[in-house]
Amino acid sequence: MTIMKTTNQNPTALTDTFGRQISYLRLSVTDRCDLRCHYCMAENMIFLPKAEVLSLEEMLMLCNAFIDRGVRRIRLTGGEPLVRKDIIWLFEQLGKQINSKRIDEVTVTTNGTQLSKMATDLYNAGVRRVNISLDTLKRDAFAEITRRDSLSKVMEGIDAALSAGLKVKINTVALKNKNEHEISDILNWCITKGLDLTLIETMPLGNIDSAREDSYLPLTGVIDNLKTDFTLTPNTHRTGGPARYYSIENSASKLGVITPLTNNFCDGCNRVRVTCTGRIYMCLGQSNHVDLREAIRSTNPEAELNKLLGNAMQEKPYGHDFAMKDGKMTGTVGRHMSMTGG
Ligand code: SAM
Ligand code: SF4
Repeated sequence: MTIMKTTNQNPTALTDTFGRQISYLRLSVTDRCDLRCHYCMAENMIFLPKAEVLSLEEMLMLCNAFIDRGVRRIRLTGGEPLVRKDIIWLFEQLGKQINSKRIDEVTVTTNGTQLSKMATDLYNAGVRRVNISLDTLKRDAFAEITRRDSLSKVMEGIDAALSAGLKVKINTVALKNKNEHEISDILNWCITKGLDLTLIETMPLGNIDSAREDSYLPLTGVIDNLKTDFTLTPNTHRTGGPARYYSIENSASKLGVITPLTNNFCDGCNRVRVTCTGRIYMCLGQSNHVDLREAIRSTNPEAELNKLLGNAMQEKPYGHDFAMKDGKMTGTVGRHMSMTGG
């Protein structure tokens, strides 16, 4: 394995046993959602009781503990982060940390349904980039994939985000027999609107109502097909995450691919994920975690959190074990993506 070591400028920076510095936090602010994407959730989900979920003030305390230890970028995710009541308050508090140069940016991953009413508030809070998940441009296919007829709301949300001045990246999960013949159209649409697009392979996280293998579409074939319509050139752009990028001839848009099953890019991983109950997962594709909630609710949260964050770094695994073997997905993890967000 090749490990990309990072330069440690903050003496208390969170660094794992492979020498990787953690500069990026993804915080899931709720496990709830107004959609039910087949690959993410079952139709009937049992959501967490409110008492188990951290308050927004507790989430801010947690973010501050990470910031003190060298985290520079924070993404709020979910579930659907924008359905959490008063979530703009947390964006505003984190926005103040950008103003005081304690962090570089606050971003959000959203399904877009709430953006038509919240995009301007996000911009005013200091958010400049949003990732919006969209797997199809067709109303029927959208209703089938997400189990909700909300495509027009998402489209209005995307336009509202652009009008508010937010840079938009579209995330599309590539799905066999669902959107596989539409991906070229989605890329064309992104180019026309000046948006970047990231394609994602479906990952084996949590029980859903069907076999994941039925909708798994390897991105290697998708890229080969796209090359018949677009001139794609591999690009050196890196974000410390699993995406690899292509430039598209005659377009300012970038195409990203996240290929956890066909290609594993864990060596430069710079991130950890925290659930809305305060559990830190050091890897999206592994189950080991450290529970931070008791520390947050203790009488000396700062010191307790600091200690646990240090412990968590000792537990960060090299990477996930997702793979396709003999037509079956392996490396499966029991929790749903909506616990740790994307
Ligand atoms: N609700 C928001 C949204 O949909 O953007 C944020 C949370 S969602 C869990 C984050 C991202 O994870 C989305 O882009 C979604 O498509 C992706 N996702 C969910 N389940 C997945 C899975 N099993 N495999 C791959 N991507 C998944
Ligand atoms: Fe909700 Fe996002 Fe999961 Fe879809 S992918 S069900 S929008 S949390």
